[in-house]
Amino acid sequence: MAISVAAVRENPALLKLDLYCKGARLDMASLGGGGTGRGLLRTRAGLGSGLEVVLPGGLWTNVPVLEAFAQRSPYEFQGDGDGLRLMRDGEYVTTVSLSPRPAWYDQATSSGKPMMRVGTLQGTYLGVYPAKVCDYWVTPEKTNCHFCSVGLNLGVDDATEKSVEEVIEVVHAARDGSGITYVDFNTGHYEGDTYLDILEPYIRRIKAETGLLVGVQTPPHHDLSRYDALKAMGVNRVSFCFEIFDRERFREVCPGKDAQYGLDRYLDAIRYCAELGRRSGLSLSDPWVTNGEIVAGLESPESSIAAINWITDAGAIPTVCVFRPLRGTDYESLEPPETEAMIPVFRRLYDACMEHGLPIGCAPNIHVSLVLLPEECAAFSDRPFRWQRAKLAVMRRVFLALHHRAVQAREH
Ligand code: SF4
Repeated sequence: MAISVAAVRENPALLKLDLYCKGARLDMASLGGGGTGRGLLRTRAGLGSGLEVVLPGGLWTNVPVLEAFAQRSPYEFQGDGDGLRLMRDGEYVTTVSLSPRPAWYDQATSSGKPMMRVGTLQGTYLGVYPAKVCDYWVTPEKTNCHFCSVGLNLGVDDATEKSVEEVIEVVHAARDGSGITYVDFNTGHYEGDTYLDILEPYIRRIKAETGLLVGVQTPPHHDLSRYDALKAMGVNRVSFCFEIFDRERFREVCPGKDAQYGLDRYLDAIRYCAELGRRSGLSLSDPWVTNGEIVAGLESPESSIAAINWITDAGAIPTVCVFRPLRGTDYESLEPPETEAMIPVFRRLYDACMEHGLPIGCAPNIHVSLVLLPEECAAFSDRPFRWQRAKLAVMRRVFLALHHRAVQAREH
């Protein structure tokens, strides 16, 4: 059944999902002085190519506008003063605002690098890809994940290598100028499993100087005790992107990951880190969450749902991206998934997190533009989860107070 304009108007989560799947055309000539706001940047492996906007209901998102499928979309953004009007097949849907472009985007670090080439806001958190390009892009046999655009990004929208000093300057600028609460580090694969060695100096400095929440997304290190060390260092989130749960598809889509690590190493790391959190108990002053990340739309919805079930059974929280056939990637000519096929996946994301009592939506001021967060998917579920919701509301309040205290303690 086609999704109506009335349905997306009533349900901003459905609109966010529909825009991931269909993209939108952008009437550049009608845009006001704010242009495209933060600009159209290629950040993150397979997602952040589009227009950063805030939808009704305070849902931050990144809408594909550059890809071929977006040029055929029924949606169109038209300038409307400082905001944008969203139309579908000529019918008015809603008005959205551009995500504010921070003043520090136009400043430089003391080494002279533009700050937005050191780190960018993805929604309301700071994302940093601090090291050289993932090795899968530079080895002669080129075994990169086929949806990935990282090898196309670096040195274009993003500086290649960033010193600890440069990153710290940008973290301070983003905290002071944009009120960020969370810094996310992301690396690809490096020969010799060096990704955690590379990240640790950045993490130590941020924790010592700011008290902000910090997360890392890297391949699974063969020495699992490194995650105990990260936890002791104050890291709050570890994320493992295995992308695809179907083993045959995993091999096809992610040849480098398959040859180097194999799906089981990802699953073992998720299990180990979730258990690490369980053993130490839920701490709101020193939180630790484990994420397993998948891309929906490159395997069957049933397989994505099986992945969500596996991750939540392990005690981790799924991050579910919607496949975006980015320009220039191996998969640029594939189609994104149909919205209707994705709804059960995102419904299951919410239901499974609530069934397992996972701490979703607790961290303060974190709006993510690149994915639908589990808590945003409540709108797809008809289950009330009253007790779980009440418990999460209390946790959110306590977490906010504790986080403010931790940040202020570093400032004085
Ligand atoms: S591991 Fe895959 S998705 Fe990640 S940066 Fe490398 S090629 Fe891209």
